[in-house]
Amino acid sequence: MAGRAHIVGGGLAGLSAAVHLVRAGRDVSLYEGAGHCGGRCRSYFEAALDRRIDNGNHLLLSGNRAAQEYLDVIGRPDGLPGGQPGGLVGPDRAAYPFLDLATGERWTVKMGAGRIPWWIFSAARRVPGSTPWDYLKALKLAGAGAGDTVAGCLDGANPVFAKFWEPLAVGVLNTSAEEGSAALLWPVIRETFGRGEAACRPLIARVGLSETFIDPALAFLTERGAAISLNTRLRELGMENSRITALEFNTGSITLAEDDTVVLAVPPAPAAGLVPELAVPTESRAIVNGHFLLQRDAPDMSFLGLVGGTAQWLFVRGDVASVTVSAADALAEKPVDEIADILWEDVARALELGSAPLPAHRIVKEKRATFAQTPEQVKRRPGVRTRWGNLFLAGDWTDTGLPATIEGTILSGRTAYETVMISSP
Ligand SMILES: Cc1cc2nc3c(=O)[nH]c(=O)nc-3n(C[C@H](O)[C@H](O)[C@H](O)COP(=O)(O)OP(=O)(O)OC[C@H]3O[C@@H](n4cnc5c(N)ncnc54)[C@H](O)[C@@H]3O)c2cc1C
Repeated sequence: MAGRAHIVGGGLAGLSAAVHLVRAGRDVSLYEGAGHCGGRCRSYFEAALDRRIDNGNHLLLSGNRAAQEYLDVIGRPDGLPGGQPGGLVGPDRAAYPFLDLATGERWTVKMGAGRIPWWIFSAARRVPGSTPWDYLKALKLAGAGAGDTVAGCLDGANPVFAKFWEPLAVGVLNTSAEEGSAALLWPVIRETFGRGEAACRPLIARVGLSETFIDPALAFLTERGAAISLNTRLRELGMENSRITALEFNTGSITLAEDDTVVLAVPPAPAAGLVPELAVPTESRAIVNGHFLLQRDAPDMSFLGLVGGTAQWLFVRGDVASVTVSAADALAEKPVDEIADILWEDVARALELGSAPLPAHRIVKEKRATFAQTPEQVKRRPGVRTRWGNLFLAGDWTDTGLPATIEGTILSGRTAYETVMISSP
């Protein structure tokens, strides 16, 4: 009989590995160092707003196949009107509305249905002032080398760059276009925009990240007998003869049986502290989110790309407007009151609220939101296997071939599951 899979880290990577392993009939124990699961992808009650909010706005694309498969397995808690699957919601068609905060210009990029992007030949569907050729240049990303950056590959002087490709690349890579890896952006373009309109609809969690990705996974696991331990932090791995033999937690130690396996699904810094000589990405980039309580209900589920200001993406859910700034290391250094003023000015302009005073708000700085997705750091991503035969890695920083997003994270967990199944049949 196959041994127990011990999964360390209850973020999406660990949950994805756990869910797939339990579904395959394996015995699973999951250990999470914090008092809750979800890691960087979770919801919580925010007293300043008297609302439940997400730690950060998370945008998915309908072509994110690993994420959709994961949701199919754990179950989608809500059946939704409008043809959207429960749990995630977005517009019926792939449309990306933008506002230039500096000039007030608004435009919407609307993709077409087929794989061949005929839509780029319609001026009404493109960035104003752009030509079809400006979009076809993005195919250069397909041939990007490991050392190429997004800005190096795409023409920065081109109108489509600042008004579409750059905000997209910074949002996906959480790294400036000047530094971000072009080769890492390409699979996202290929799997979404390259597959036509149905694969590139923007989606967000309808209620919250935890309600969509975390709580149903925990219910799935507990209903099927998985053991979940919170406040259980791994301090050391016991190793002998190229195998992991023990797990030393703050709460006590566990001796592993001969066939047991371990999936380490913690961020890169703790992983490097636990696994000797493990090379991991060492640099990270911040994401700053501002959540503002609106005086009135704004249109539900709206989102808007912003250029020409500080805020980059605006989401409105109920009466809370939330803005995201990626690759935000400089902004994250500022005091929260200053950040709130800066971001509220952008929100008020985008929602045409005039000189409305700063409302109840919360600024969330995630200083190590993701690893820095530069060509140099991407090279440091390790694979799923380690030199310990029963130790496997998962997480958005491992070598998934995808950026550090929900899709890449869930894929990493699934890859860990597949590797455990092969290594310990
Ligand atoms: C503000 C923000 C906005 C984002 N926006 C998007 C977006 O729009 N779209 C998108 O797709 N992605 C987005 N992401 C990225 C996405 O959230 C991450 O890629 C994903 O959540 C990473 O999951 P993970 O499981 O790899 O890591 P984590 O979520 O960090 O999980 C690791 C877990 O391990 C636990 N742990 C650490 N050390 C130990 C230990 N020693 N023992 C036990 N447990 C331990 C931690 O407590 C944590 O729960 C965003 C991230 C942030 C922070």
